[in-house]
Amino acid sequence: MDLRFSEEDEAFREEIRTWLDANLVGEFAALRGRGGSGDLEGAGELRRAWERTLAGGGWTCVGWPKEYGGRGLSLTQEVIFNEEYARARAPGRLGHIGETLLGPTLIAFGTEAQKRRFLPPIVRAEELWCQGYSEPNAGSDLGNVQCKAERVGDEWVVTGQKVWTSLASISDWCFVLCRTDAAAPKHRGISYLLVPMRQPGVEIVPIRQITGTAEFAEVFFDGARTAADNVVGSPGDGWKVAMGTLAFERGASTLGQQLAFEGELGQVIEAAKANGAVKDPVMRQRLADAWIGLRIMRMNALRTLSETEGGAQLSREALITKLDLATWHRDLGKLAMDVLGPWSEIAASAPYELGDLQRLFLWTRSDTIYAGTNQIQRNIIAERALGLPREPRAAGER
Ligand SMILES: Cc1cc2nc3c(=O)[nH]c(=O)nc-3n(C[C@H](O)[C@H](O)[C@H](O)COP(=O)(O)OP(=O)(O)OC[C@H]3O[C@@H](n4cnc5c(N)ncnc54)[C@H](O)[C@@H]3O)c2cc1C
Repeated sequence: MDLRFSEEDEAFREEIRTWLDANLVGEFAALRGRGGSGDLEGAGELRRAWERTLAGGGWTCVGWPKEYGGRGLSLTQEVIFNEEYARARAPGRLGHIGETLLGPTLIAFGTEAQKRRFLPPIVRAEELWCQGYSEPNAGSDLGNVQCKAERVGDEWVVTGQKVWTSLASISDWCFVLCRTDAAAPKHRGISYLLVPMRQPGVEIVPIRQITGTAEFAEVFFDGARTAADNVVGSPGDGWKVAMGTLAFERGASTLGQQLAFEGELGQVIEAAKANGAVKDPVMRQRLADAWIGLRIMRMNALRTLSETEGGAQLSREALITKLDLATWHRDLGKLAMDVLGPWSEIAASAPYELGDLQRLFLWTRSDTIYAGTNQIQRNIIAERALGLPREPRAAGER
């Protein structure tokens, strides 16, 4: 196992660093630090312009193969890109769902026609995507999706409800898990459809959160239509495709996040220095623990990269990544509030202006839920990494 970066990788790091220094300036300078925890939709218009600038420089979809408009970077270089992006405090990406979830899924499972139609606008930052998996009775138990799609002529007609759909209100398209065969067993009869969001049969109802913002929404489909060809994989075989997308969501795309976290930990440490909390020996230990946790996370990311280099599959150690980062980040939010003490409960200004650390605390409550809850991640580690007996399932389930 080699935990060092090669000279070539370090040269690449310099290249992206130089580009960001030269381009994250002028009006874009105001975007530094925007679009992160609790601010996913913030400064939307300017961030769209920034994404197009990124695209112009060839810095979107950097891990995709060149034939699909990417840079064909190795996983290590992709992580370096994400690290430098975070180090520069460049804004959170509005196009990340298309770039890190739908794009890789289409590259793995899509037809050539689908790749030609849908990948270029993602690379050019022209079309935004959202993920229509969860429903009121299908979250962890995703196989229970009830949203229906019927084939009518040369179209699919979609009816049903999705919930917690991040960035739905600004998205052009949604990849929607739909039941297309009611008679089939639970995990069969599901299809993975690509549905345009801007049409009469789609109603988006934003859900306002405790942070005061509304990054996600309920989405109601009432006779929404999409072309018959817009199904990824075979009709009825969407479960396999959906699991492929989840592997991307919980895997490589999470490896470069520690540097963004490092910035947030830095803010917590600054707050502790400013208000004297750092003099409390228990608080000092907790801050040191947080720093150690971050180092462990980074070592694990480097180990995963080292073991993955040259191989298409992430090693089984990668299965702990989402659990580890979600738990660490949630605990950082709690630590931030303990550092602020009584001030953590007071808004910066009326009526509801939260400070960065308050937003961090409230937002990080969601880390252990989205992309699979901590309990579900533990089940996955138990079954797939450790080979423990599978959790009991109802008769007829997988
Ligand atoms: C910030 C955020 C953004 C999101 N964005 C999207 C999005 O863009 N698109 C989308 O489709 N969804 C999105 N989600 C939804 C997310 O995927 C679900 O919330 C998540 O999968 C959990 O499902 P649920 O909320 O229905 O909880 P439930 O599945 O009802 O779980 C409730 C509790 O039961 C536990 N539990 C359930 N089953 C088991 C089990 N077998 N073993 C042990 N414990 C179990 C869970 O861990 C949890 O604690 C988002 C969620 C959040 C918080």
